[in-house]
Amino acid sequence: MNTEDFRPEKEIKIFYPPQRVLMGPGPSDTHPRVLNAMARPTLGHLDPVFTEMMEEIKGLMRYAFQTKNRMTFSVSGPGSVGMEMCFVNMIEPGDKVIVCRNGVFGGRMIENVERHGGVAVVVDDKWGEPVDPQKVEDALKKNPDTKIVAFCHAETSTGAQSDAKTLCEIARKYNCLTIVDTVTSLGGTPIKVDEWGIDAIYSGSQKCLSCPPGLSPVSFSERVTELVKNRKTKVHSWFMDIGLLLNYWGSSTRTYHHTAPTNALYALHESLLMLAEEGLEHSWARHRYNYEALKAGFATLGMSYVVAEQHRLPQLNSVFVPAGVDEKEVRRRLLDDYSLEIGAGLGDFAGKVWRFGLMGTSCRVENVIFCLNALESILSDMGMKVERGAAAAAAHQKYAENPMF
Ligand SMILES: *Cc1c(COP(=O)(O)O)cnc(C)c1O
Repeated sequence: MNTEDFRPEKEIKIFYPPQRVLMGPGPSDTHPRVLNAMARPTLGHLDPVFTEMMEEIKGLMRYAFQTKNRMTFSVSGPGSVGMEMCFVNMIEPGDKVIVCRNGVFGGRMIENVERHGGVAVVVDDKWGEPVDPQKVEDALKKNPDTKIVAFCHAETSTGAQSDAKTLCEIARKYNCLTIVDTVTSLGGTPIKVDEWGIDAIYSGSQKCLSCPPGLSPVSFSERVTELVKNRKTKVHSWFMDIGLLLNYWGSSTRTYHHTAPTNALYALHESLLMLAEEGLEHSWARHRYNYEALKAGFATLGMSYVVAEQHRLPQLNSVFVPAGVDEKEVRRRLLDDYSLEIGAGLGDFAGKVWRFGLMGTSCRVENVIFCLNALESILSDMGMKVERGAAAAAAHQKYAENPMF
């Protein structure tokens, strides 16, 4: 055999991705400032200049999560790794965990509980509805030996937001710790880790933080530190063992754990800095502001929401596909003709629902108008009766009624 025999058959050239507008369930667009930050020189993961920046990331992350938790850092892996890190550290074989399931991600939490030897008590709510606190309380009454309550704050598969504050209060009343998924909510809607008493929280870099995928901000309360310290069994993952990781992310003597993705962390630093510059309240208000306009436009196209108004996530708009429309063809044309990506429905919603993200830097006035115009043109071309220009006009009207900037 010759080394040349192993060359790919297809001639491969430099990869230049097209410039898209990402308005699906994530990733959202990366801000140019963040892309630029990633292109800076790579440093060693123990270089003092780099570790100083890691401390800044921890500080900025505490602001984003609204917490003073010492154990606040970024997991080197996507949101799913942040999720698994919470479960693998906090569960010992036989532990009972109440898992709330009102969409795809609650289902993944059940998988996590079971794979780590725990016993999942599932509290089901309908897709598109928030987690019902009364059902959680009933489950806690019936299962007084429960150790943890886990739920998704922002269910990206449906666009429903659950009342994290109330759910954490109930969990605390029954002496349980909480694991909260905020992958889609961080930066987009309010999260107050300390005020709400959240014990373990994880998020993702690629939704409302305007950063590329691949990192997961996490934070743990002192109660979790105690729990992990007092485990009878070793954490069933070497890579995700918080105790070992803190030898690197902790602030005193740093030793090698794994090679941190240094350039990716520059990006996270830049995106968290941008969030701090904008201010959390402003960012939350911006997500709501653009949502109101997008909603007004959708109404002119006969598109209604899956989730009731008071439980809706402004950053994830799940809407029913108008009757008789080939939803896949619409998405194909948005991508091919407008370079605009939106999301399809998952599970029971497949083929019936579209998911429009307004996350992070994708959440802008020009994107709302662009998306409504593109959608209106395509639907009109495909034979749907629409009044051309009405969707963007309705959005403009909304912006005029609710000036924000
Ligand atoms: C996107 C998402 C995840 C998974 O994050 P990845 O970065 O894709 O691993 C988990 N939970 C929710 C609610 C999400 O929206």
